Amino acid sequence: MNDNRMIDCIFKADRSQSELTELIAHIKNASRLSGDADIVAQFELALANYFGVTYAIAVSSGTAALHATLMETIQSGDEVLLPVIGVPMTAAAIIEAGGVPVFYDASPGSFAPDLETLLQMVSVKTKALITVPMWGYSAFDDALRVFAVERGLVIIEDTAQALGTMVDGKFEGTRGHVGCFSTHEFKLLSTGEGGFVLTNDAYHAKRIRSFTHIGFSMDEMGFGHRSGLNYKLSALQAALGLSQLSRLDEKIRERQEKIALWIHLLGVAPGARLTQFGGAGDRHNGYSLALTLADAPPGEARKVAQRLFDAGVNTDIYRYQQSYIVNYPMLRRFYNDPRYTGDCIRDFPNATRIIDSLIVLPCHDQISFTDIDVAACRLHAILA
Ligand SMILES: *Cc1c(COP(=O)(O)O)cnc(C)c1O
Repeated sequence: MNDNRMIDCIFKADRSQSELTELIAHIKNASRLSGDADIVAQFELALANYFGVTYAIAVSSGTAALHATLMETIQSGDEVLLPVIGVPMTAAAIIEAGGVPVFYDASPGSFAPDLETLLQMVSVKTKALITVPMWGYSAFDDALRVFAVERGLVIIEDTAQALGTMVDGKFEGTRGHVGCFSTHEFKLLSTGEGGFVLTNDAYHAKRIRSFTHIGFSMDEMGFGHRSGLNYKLSALQAALGLSQLSRLDEKIRERQEKIALWIHLLGVAPGARLTQFGGAGDRHNGYSLALTLADAPPGEARKVAQRLFDAGVNTDIYRYQQSYIVNYPMLRRFYNDPRYTGDCIRDFPNATRIIDSLIVLPCHDQISFTDIDVAACRLHAILA
């Protein structure tokens, strides 16, 4: 191995020869390559079957999935609950849909919402609650379902990173009202750019499909009755998606082998210095391995991520400088609300402990077992 090569969380997804051959065959045989091509409908059907839901709508990105869902769920000025540990895309989709993001704390040791802060943050303006299962770790639990259903809130799962994770025999992204997925290059099912929406609700399905098809109305069988955007997935991406879906379980197994090696080499175990983060469920998808470092003082996880980077291991924690999303300049004005003290440590105590102690390690297609050996050694040295 070349010792100067970065062991990197950024990568190009594997494309098998058969996948590329299939793609060429689709291009040759397809009557159309637009989002109205048969292959897109086939991809949607395959998604609905795989995930065991009634409706799947293929779209051009995960952010498009979120935006379309929010456009059809909230009115301008409505509040949307979202976690303080997350990504800018979720918050951007809320803002672009005219919503007001309201931030909730995590549960102790998991990405599920902390019920107490939900009760503090909910108001008469709240219309939806978004969960973000980061790195494939579930963020859904029964307490949040009860909370949302009692208040008539739409539960939207931003399942971009948790595609394929299963809890209690169900897929993450199929337990709320709408699941929004990404098929961006770095995600488990990779079409370069792309995404899809899953739901069992006919009303949501109809409206989201219409919005992503420039407002096309199935009732009127025409355009111009309602507005929308062109968020259709192209036929080429759908063809890639079909091949990727047929390989998904195998890919998850490969990633789980890498996770098993990390866990073995790092001595990850209940009660040990490093423990696996909560929410791995019955089947974690292997997006990344998230670990908790015991007794981490404030700022420790970011120091470890910095030292790993200096030692040639780039992790998501380093890449995103993982912190509270309220620190993004675009979100600061929403954090200026009497429901918060303005001090993140007091407002989000559970998220604070997570941010201080979280170590996230890559397990994607281009990480080899040798890479894991090398990187685990370096992490050992850093933690010694
Ligand atoms: C990748 C990602 C998105 C956005 O998906 P795109 O397809 O890149 O638009 C949204 N939310 C989360 C949690 C993500 O990881």
